[in-house]
Order: sequence, then C-alpha cells, then structure tokens
Amino acid sequence: MSESKKALTNNFGAPVDNDLNSLTAGNPGPVLMQDIHLLEKLSHFDRERIPERVVHAKGAGAYGFFEVTADVTKYTRAKFLSQVGKRTEVFLRFSTVGGEKGSADAERDPRGFALKFYTEEGNYDMVGNNTPVFFIRDPLKFPDFIHTQKRNPATNLKDPDMFWDFLSLTPESVHQVTILFSDRGTPRTYRHMNGFSSHTFKWYNENGEYFWVKYHFKTEQGIQNFTRQEAEIMKGKDPDHATRDLFEAIRRREFPAWRLEMQIMTPEQAEKYRFDPFDLTKVWPHADFPPIVIGRLVLNRNPENYFAEVEQAAFSPANFVPGIAASPDKMLQGRLFSYHDTHRHRLGPNYHLIPVNAPKAVKVDNYERDGFMRTDGNFGGAPNYYPNSFGGPEPTPEVADPPFEVSGRAARQKYIHPNDDFVQAGALYKKVMTDTDREHLVGNIVEHLAKAQKRIQYRQCAVFCKADPDYGRRVAEGLNLSVKDVVLLANMSQEDRAQATKQGSYTK
Ligand code: NDP
Repeated sequence: MSESKKALTNNFGAPVDNDLNSLTAGNPGPVLMQDIHLLEKLSHFDRERIPERVVHAKGAGAYGFFEVTADVTKYTRAKFLSQVGKRTEVFLRFSTVGGEKGSADAERDPRGFALKFYTEEGNYDMVGNNTPVFFIRDPLKFPDFIHTQKRNPATNLKDPDMFWDFLSLTPESVHQVTILFSDRGTPRTYRHMNGFSSHTFKWYNENGEYFWVKYHFKTEQGIQNFTRQEAEIMKGKDPDHATRDLFEAIRRREFPAWRLEMQIMTPEQAEKYRFDPFDLTKVWPHADFPPIVIGRLVLNRNPENYFAEVEQAAFSPANFVPGIAASPDKMLQGRLFSYHDTHRHRLGPNYHLIPVNAPKAVKVDNYERDGFMRTDGNFGGAPNYYPNSFGGPEPTPEVADPPFEVSGRAARQKYIHPNDDFVQAGALYKKVMTDTDREHLVGNIVEHLAKAQKRIQYRQCAVFCKADPDYGRRVAEGLNLSVKDVVLLANMSQEDRAQATKQGSYTK
C-alpha cells in the first residue's frame, strides 16, 4: 500500500482486505457466513437510527460564543457572567417542534432556540423558543397538547380537528396561537428571529439575594418572516431551507448574532404584581420591566458531523450553574424532569459523556457510575460512595440556591383568574400589530381553521372574540360563521361553551 493511502479497518482497527465483493462459495454463489466484514457492516447499518426526538426532531446547530457587555454581578454570581468582555463557548440548536426529522423547515410552528453555555462552573442550558410565551401553563397538559399537533392515530395525517379542538378547549393558549398564526409563525430563517427563555428563572448573587429574570435574545439580523404563501412555496422548493441558510451563512463567515436583553423583577415586585409572574402564557410588559442589554451571542462555527454534534446534542432546562436556578413556573417544573428523562431514553444513561454534551471548561467529579456506554474510565478506583474518608469529591454549600417562602394547600388547583388569559393576546392584536399584521393573522387562521368541524370553528372564534371583539369577528366572517352566535358563545363560561359546541352541534 502506498503511503498516501489510508488503510480501511474494521471497528476494532484490523485492516479490511476487500470492501466491494462479498465472500461467496463459487461465482456468483451464495454468501458465506464467515464474511465477518459483511455481517459487521450490515448489522451496524441496521442500528444507525436512534429514536427521533418526540418534539423538536428537525433541527440545525452551530457553535459560537457569548460575550458579557454589562455588569450583572449584583444580580447573579454565575462566573460566566462575572465580567464585562468575558467570553464563553456556546452551542445553539434551532428546530421546529411538531414535525418529524424530515419535515419542512418552513412549517408554521414555534422554533426551538436551545443554547448550551460551556462554563467553567459546568454546562448551563437555556432551552428556549422564538416565542416569549407558551400554549399551556400546566405540564399535565403537555403530552395531550403535543398529540394534537402530531398525527391522527387512525389516518396518520395532521388533523385540524384535533389541533383546534384542544386549543379551543384550552383558552389560555390564545396568546401563543396569536403569535403562531402571525407571520412570526413562519420565520424566514433561523437567523431572522428572536429567542426567549419564555420561563422565568431565578438569579442569585454572592450575598444570597435573588431576582426573577427572563431572557430575550434579540436578532441583530432583524426580524424577517415568510407570508403564508411564501412559506408554502418554500416547503416544496427546499424543505431544508433554514438548515441550509444557517450552515451557508456561517461558511461565508456572515456570523449571525443576537443581543441578550434581560427583564429583572425583585421578589417584592413579584409578590405584588397584578398577575402571576410565573405564568408561561404571559409576558412581563416592557413598560413595567424594561429589558436591560447584558450581552451578545455570536455563532461562528459549523459542526463537522451532524449526527455526532446536532442529533446527539441534548439540552435540559435543569442544567443550571451557581447563580441561576428554577422558578416556581409549573411548566418549567415539568420540564426540569422531562428533558433528562427523554435523553436517557433517546441516547442512554451516559449521554452526558457524548462530547457535544460534556462540559468543556470543567472536570466532572461525582459518585455516579456504570451504565450502558460508559465510555470514559468510570472514575477508575476512586471511591463510589459518599460520605467517604478516601478523598472523594465534597459538596460546595456556598453555591446553594437561596430559599424562598411557599405556602398554601397541597391540591390539584385550577387557575383562578381565567379572564386574564385574553388580555395579552388582545393587546398584541390591537396595540402591537399593524393593519398588515392583522390582515395576515386573520388570513392564516381562516385558511387553517376552515379545515376543522364547524362547531370547533365556532368555539375557537369565541376565544378570539374574548381576546378582542374585532379579532373574533374578522375570523368568523372569513369562515362564514354567524358573528351573533360567536358573540353568544364568547359570553358563556368555558364549561357552557364546551357544552354548547359538543359533538352534533352547529351541523348546518
Ligand atoms: P411593547 O410594545 O413594549 O412590546 C411589543 C413586543 O411585541 C416587541 O418586543 C415586538 O418585538 C413584539 N412583536 C411585534 N409583533 C409581534 C408579533 N406578531 N408576534 C409577537 N411579538 C411581536 O409591549 P408590551 O411589552 O406591553 O407587550 C404587548 C404585547 O406584545 C404582549 O402582550 C405580547 O403579546 C407582545 N410581546 C411582548 C413581549 C414582552 O416581553 N413584553 C415580547 C414579545 C412580544 P420586536 O421588538 O422583536 O419586534
């Protein structure tokens, strides 16, 4: 073999003699069982696919850095945020939510914005979306909600009845539905959209004082969206357009960037605030909590291998570092469990050893051992129990998340202010959107909702009507519904409305 050629080996390093002809008895002849190379090649191929993510299956990712631009040490002790000018390596994965791994990037869907900071105190993940709110506020509803966004169990088709039935029976979704059906539901590329933590988190400083915070990553490329018609064309023309755009922009060295703005609330403000600041269906109005610019995120390096670095990337909102902790947001509490759990199913119990998921700036040292695919030295002969008197790692009590008061009854408790579910959707429709935004919103909804049963159309229009009467009326008119009936339904309680629109109603 000449020196310029590289030897083909099997998975155990031995040279392979032939990679074109199977070993046969005679010519052509049956294949011999002793063709170990063929058996190994086929059996590895048979196992190439891992379970796709149950949500956010289609995605694209890139590396970059986060740079601090303002002093936030009075709010958080996190070391990666401790100095103006300090840079931390990051990996960001964008995604759609409901579609399968091969689905189109231009689908109407929220976009995932999952960010991993490789800090010197461990990996910190901010697993956000391109919307500041979410459809529901209780994690018990999450699997049901996702089922309605996926395929009908009988037809295996996306199903407008399932989609709108659930949303119209879950009116707290109307704020997120309004954002999703505006043109922000079809961002032009991953570079031209914002990223939000959506949840509230806790920041705490060296003195144990804490603050409630929300993250807003604002695109420096500017917001750009597809209209419904442009998105439809792009889905057929290039189902991978956003994946391609990100990779090619970085290859051209046009590095996309986002400005990090924080909203910060004191515990005293939270106690007195006019609505629950931990409710994921609501934003904190900018006038009450003006965003403060604190940093800049830049993506400047493409992954070298999609499977290794993007498909196997695993994020969790439970990956905190000292100075950052959870809030009582119920949806967040559910996610704190669910992300690690799904990664153990998808990638195995030692998924934290996969290089894209492993800390880069600090060494892991603990008492967790063994399990499938333990690919490191498994801590050799170090003690595997705590406490021990053999020099094993010790906890650091001073990094503890400061305690806060909770009180009340332990029970399954309904949300007590259902009428404020409509206020922010109404404000978005009336005060923030332009005439063109409203026109596109109504058109986008009518086109989709028209495919659901009439009774579901009525119920959903009543929900829009509660957000803003003009909003409900325009969608109802677009669907040729009786506006009078929609207003009647809007004035009913949620339970009465569900009863009035049960199966068999509004069949004319
Ligand atoms: P502001 O006028 O201060 O902020 C309005 C915000 O709405 C801007 O951040 C703008 O984002 C964003 N926006 C504009 N068009 C759309 C759209 N079609 N979909 C989603 N967001 C859009 O008002 P308030 O803070 O009082 O909030 C009023 C409403 O604005 C809220 O009810 C909420 O629906 C929406 N909003 C509020 C946010 C917040 O954190 N307060 C964040 C995002 C939306 P941009 O600057 O990127 O153009």
